[in-house]
This record gives sequence, C-alpha cells and structure tokens, in this order.
Amino acid sequence: IPTVSIYGIPFSKLTMKETVEVLRQAVLAKQPHQVITANPIMVMAALENPAMMKVMQSAEMIVPDGTGVVWAANYCGEPVAERVPGFELLHELLRVGENYRWGVYLLGSTPEVIQETAVRLQEQYPAIRIVGYRDGYFGPAEDEQVVASIREAAPDLLFVARGADTQEPWIHKYKDSLQVPVTMGVGGSFDVISG
Ligand code: UDP
Repeated sequence: IPTVSIYGIPFSKLTMKETVEVLRQAVLAKQPHQVITANPIMVMAALENPAMMKVMQSAEMIVPDGTGVVWAANYCGEPVAERVPGFELLHELLRVGENYRWGVYLLGSTPEVIQETAVRLQEQYPAIRIVGYRDGYFGPAEDEQVVASIREAAPDLLFVARGADTQEPWIHKYKDSLQVPVTMGVGGSFDVISG
C-alpha cells in the first residue's frame, strides 16, 4: 500500500473506502494484518520508545486516525488521502463483514462494558457472528490462555481495547499465534459503543 513516512512511521495514504477494501481482501486471503490507528500522541510515544517504534514499523497498516497526522503529512509535502478514524473503521468493517457473516472477537474494557458492547454490536449488525469476547483486565500470566481461546474462536476480525501503550505491543507480540486476518486496537471505542 502507498505510504508516507512521518518521523519514520509509514502512514497509509489510502482513503477510508480503499482501506476497507484492502482489509476485506486480507480477510478473504486469511493474511494476518495488524492495523494501528495512530494519532500524534502515538507518534510521540514511538519516538521516545524504540520498542513502540518497532511495533509500529512492523504493523501491516497504520492509518491516520486524527487531523494531527493529516496536518503532519501535508507539512511533509506528501498528503494522506483523508482521516481514517478508528471508530469509523471499526463500523465500516462490521458493515462489510455482514455480507460474509464474518466472525468477530471483542477483547478489552471491563466485563460490563464488553458484554454490553457485544449485545449492541450484534443488534446493529445482525449478520455478524460475535464468536467471543472477554474483558481486558488480565496480566501477562493469562496471555497464553487468552490467545488460545481467541485462536479457537477463529474470528475474522479481532478488536482490542486496552490502554494505548498496551494494546498495540500485545497484538504485535501475539499476531503470529492468534492467526486472525485483521486485528485492530480500538482504545476507548467499547466505552463509547456500550454508552
Ligand atoms: N483497559 C483494559 N485493560 C487495562 C487498561 C485499560 O481493558 O489494563 C481498557 C479500558 O477499560 C478502556 C480502554 O482500555 O475501555 C482504554 O483505556 P484508557 O482510556 O484508560 O487507555 P488510554 O487509551 O488512555 O491509554
């Protein structure tokens, strides 16, 4: 995919529509994609933390979540197409996924929030299969068990809502074991969806 480098981080230059199409193809081809919806705070974090920089540079797709990144790309003389906000991308993927009855796994937030999120997304996208969900309050000792249950559920899409400094490294670390076509960190999205 065409990218522009902003402080060494390759941002996708695709529109929302093109982004969704690339990810639709990734699901059909069953190719693991880590999608990072990055804002300037995450760019700063990567500049200060080499481990985070490595995580971001290893992601298959980094999309410009906010206007700050769009501005920076313009400033670099290589504009991105438009903002691709994570919250909207989540909904676009579920909308497309209804055509294929994609399986979706929701990971993160509190037990109450994640349960309510599962209920509401199922209502909003009846043709989606919610193949599993669990809260995001677990430690490294539980990682293997969490990964195993996701792999067993075999979702097409995995949305992870934990802290911004946690979710992307976690997805990066377990991407190969998870074997999920599209995995995306969605930060506080479940808190919004569960209302
Ligand atoms: N969260 C989680 N596990 C954690 C910490 C946070 O599942 O150990 C969830 C939290 O419930 C919220 C989301 O991650 O739904 C984003 O949390 P927060 O806004 O605190 O993170 P930030 O994006 O500010 O780092």
